Amino acid sequence: MSFRITYSVLDADMSELHARFDEALDTVRGSLGAALPSWIAGEAFRSGDLLESRNPAKPDELLATFHRTPVSELDRVVRVAREAQRAWGATPWQERVRILRAAADLISARSLELSARMTLEVGKSRLESLGDVEESADLLRYYASQLEQAEGFSRPMARLSPNEDTRSVLRPYGVFAVISPFNFPLALAAGMSGGALLGGNTVILKPSEDAPWCAEGLHQALTDAGLPPGVFQVVHGEGESLGAALVRHPGVDGVSFTGSKAVGMDIHRELSTGRVRPCFLELGGKNPAIVCRDADLEAAIEGCFRSAFGLSGQKCSALSRIYVHESLLNDFTEGLASKARSAAVGDPSLASVFTGPVINAAAVRRFERAVDEARRDGAIVTGGERLRLDGALAQGHFVAPTVVALSHGHRLMRDELFLPFVGVTGFRTLDEALRMANDCEYGLTAGVFSRDAADVERFMAEAEAGVLYANRRTGATTGAWPGVQSFCGWKGSGASGKGGCGPYYVAQFMREQAQTRM
Ligand code: GLU
Repeated sequence: MSFRITYSVLDADMSELHARFDEALDTVRGSLGAALPSWIAGEAFRSGDLLESRNPAKPDELLATFHRTPVSELDRVVRVAREAQRAWGATPWQERVRILRAAADLISARSLELSARMTLEVGKSRLESLGDVEESADLLRYYASQLEQAEGFSRPMARLSPNEDTRSVLRPYGVFAVISPFNFPLALAAGMSGGALLGGNTVILKPSEDAPWCAEGLHQALTDAGLPPGVFQVVHGEGESLGAALVRHPGVDGVSFTGSKAVGMDIHRELSTGRVRPCFLELGGKNPAIVCRDADLEAAIEGCFRSAFGLSGQKCSALSRIYVHESLLNDFTEGLASKARSAAVGDPSLASVFTGPVINAAAVRRFERAVDEARRDGAIVTGGERLRLDGALAQGHFVAPTVVALSHGHRLMRDELFLPFVGVTGFRTLDEALRMANDCEYGLTAGVFSRDAADVERFMAEAEAGVLYANRRTGATTGAWPGVQSFCGWKGSGASGKGGCGPYYVAQFMREQAQTRM
């Protein structure tokens, strides 16, 4: 079966969609405060040691508590995963596809409630949440279609002699630990887990401690779709303790991680010791856009605005450096600043809001430090302050979309901030712009705005990033979709060489075996 995109948000009737989202919010708000378990061997596990999930827009609002999984429980979790893997790995691939497709359909059917939950838990706007949930379902379907197209990754090979028959078969590794971040709490948990599961591995998911509630929705969908007990387990706890212990566990055969470069490199080192184990890392970005002399200025401003400030800059793909031809620098900067000033920042559960809070108090402190540095070494064009909203939102983690003027060499133009904070600087020639764009340890996404086809082609040939966009008004550097843009980090942005959302994804979770029969 082939893959067809189902991004229904784009052609939905907006007023009806918002009315249904309001109802879903009411339903979700009606179930706040539950104490939710970890899932081990298909059973709820309650340690009594609770982790809280709070609304970043209203930190007084407790959404749910979660039973932390003690590190001492990991031996059992891994043992269960290893036992369950024998049967799951031997399950015909068509059956694995059927279950994962059923889970995708359940996620689609539950998309409003899952999105409402996500908006409350991580502060995503309604449309960003709906997009994340639909992306989750599309990722599972797209990855399922990879097994179908490759007929389970078993193919005949050449013969050395007429009575010999050889096949190349991809087989599972065993048990994968999946460590997922808060910013795409369903899509990245579903995508990484789905790839591993379709490949015949069992999965132990450790979701971000900022987004345990969304992971609960994924567990529910996979269980309701008929995934056998122990094939997908969920453990809750902090990355430094539980996540690190999971990665270190000798019974884990591979790790898929999305998050910061520093943590990713620790995981990489850990998995290179003892026996070498597969390790798929999707790390950070410091993504640039180049606005050329002949760019469509309005499209460039719109595309840069969306990518710098959507989800308050908390995407690996977010735009954080803009190089503008000096003839356009003033007009572009003023245009971007004016859009940033009028952006609706507030309670993301409201239909009118473009972007919500940053994830937690630590992110606000990071923002304040970056602003102080930018004020000292450059200029704040707009923003630069923490937003104190009224009433129930007064304690929310809100910061203003911020545009700063900084020279290319500055630390804030190199280090990933994961904030609604973008630096702008001028250039004279495309050579210079490409040099600055590439002069960075990261290489995830990059964008260009130019009406000159030759300049666009040069950018495509020379930009050092895994995902390139030209003249994209809907997002200069953000918004990859399953089956459309492979999400592949180059340089310090990733290690695997094959992207999530891309055609080679599932095969990575399998190891090759040559089988010759006489
Ligand atoms: N897929 C998202 C995009 O293209 C980004 C995912 C991430 O931040 O990890 O914008």
